[in-house]
Amino acid sequence: MIALAQDIAAHPEPGFEESRTSAKVAKGLEALGLDVVRGIAVTGLKATRQFGRIGPTVGVIGELDALRVPGHSLADPDTSAAHACGHHTQPAQLLGVAAALSSPEVADHLGGSVAFIATPAEEFIDLGRRLERREAGELGFMSGKQEMIRLGTFDDVDMAMMVHTSSEGEPGKFSIGGTSNAHVVHMVKFKGKAAHAGGAPWDGVNALQAANVAMLALNTQRETFRNSDTIRVHGIITSAGISMNAVPAEVVYEGRVRGRNSEIVDATAVKVERCFKAGALALGAEVEITSVPGYMALVNDPVMGDLFAANVDALSGPGTALRRGAAANRGGSTDMGDLSQIMPVIHPYVNAATGTAHGVDYLIEDYYSAVVTSASALAMTVIDLLAADAANAKTVLKEAKPPMTRVQYVSAQRARMRVTRYKGR
Ligand SMILES: [Zn+2]
Ligand SMILES: [Zn+2]
Repeated sequence: MIALAQDIAAHPEPGFEESRTSAKVAKGLEALGLDVVRGIAVTGLKATRQFGRIGPTVGVIGELDALRVPGHSLADPDTSAAHACGHHTQPAQLLGVAAALSSPEVADHLGGSVAFIATPAEEFIDLGRRLERREAGELGFMSGKQEMIRLGTFDDVDMAMMVHTSSEGEPGKFSIGGTSNAHVVHMVKFKGKAAHAGGAPWDGVNALQAANVAMLALNTQRETFRNSDTIRVHGIITSAGISMNAVPAEVVYEGRVRGRNSEIVDATAVKVERCFKAGALALGAEVEITSVPGYMALVNDPVMGDLFAANVDALSGPGTALRRGAAANRGGSTDMGDLSQIMPVIHPYVNAATGTAHGVDYLIEDYYSAVVTSASALAMTVIDLLAADAANAKTVLKEAKPPMTRVQYVSAQRARMRVTRYKGR
């Protein structure tokens, strides 16, 4: 399992391009006698094992994708893809859980089913490329779990779990509970008019200056953000002009608005979109704002969290599992949050990495905890949920109150997908 994780780290693939990684997982699941449905949401896959009696289905998730971090010691020299978020440990966990649950001594005591789901593209990057895929009809939503929810991959799954690595806190500990930020994504094109930057700059409309005014306006908003809302507004300019001796005619900004729930994100996005328009207005440029539905806030199921925590402590000693309050928010976002809006889930962290998440130095230091302990705890939790005629899984379902159905989720996210055009005159 550790060798597989390290092999994936050595061959990082960004979201919706994880074909090698996905094929490795498919082969591993097939070797355990499972039928694998491949190519879901481009590179995702799913395999289900049915146990004795009809009952709930527990989903076990492994994320496949890397992000792009030039300068990371394991970055692909051509694509800059690097596993700077530790997702390479998750396919290995997934196969470990599948192996544990294929043992007849275990399987004979369980009811219901387990679904092994490898999900693409958790890192919300490459926005332009993903929007092109959407135009081409390959994608509806821009992340793996979002798209799998839309496609109905989770329709026969009742609850789900995964383990993510972290470099925060005491090494070897697991943290269970807490939430994450919701977000919305903007792709903003400032459109001006090219002109000779030396000969006749007055004939141009400078799109880069429009973007600069927009950034300044955006920064003036920050004093209006409440600390308790964990708002983050951040972005990058992905294209700032072509020829430095011409007035830039088009500038592209990709950014994100995060906050502790979707309502706060939507309200903050209104302010941010106003700032993009302000840049266009000041320069007499145009702006095209494409809003893309980002993630929803994560809700961790307390019953599943208790079972998982007890298993971590049983494996690695009392006190290994640390519980976090439901409102504890790291500020980041995950599409496991989207799934948590429609079914009970857990998204615990294992402190097995060193360095800065998404940074050049993020490396898994403790592969045993990241892969073996994590997979063992996941497998034991599936057993706890599905043993004794799936009694614990039935309790989870009885007590959980997911805020929305899949249909409500899809329509709420579709409503966030829109293009706004504004002419500054
Ligand atoms: Zn991650
Ligand atoms: Zn990440």
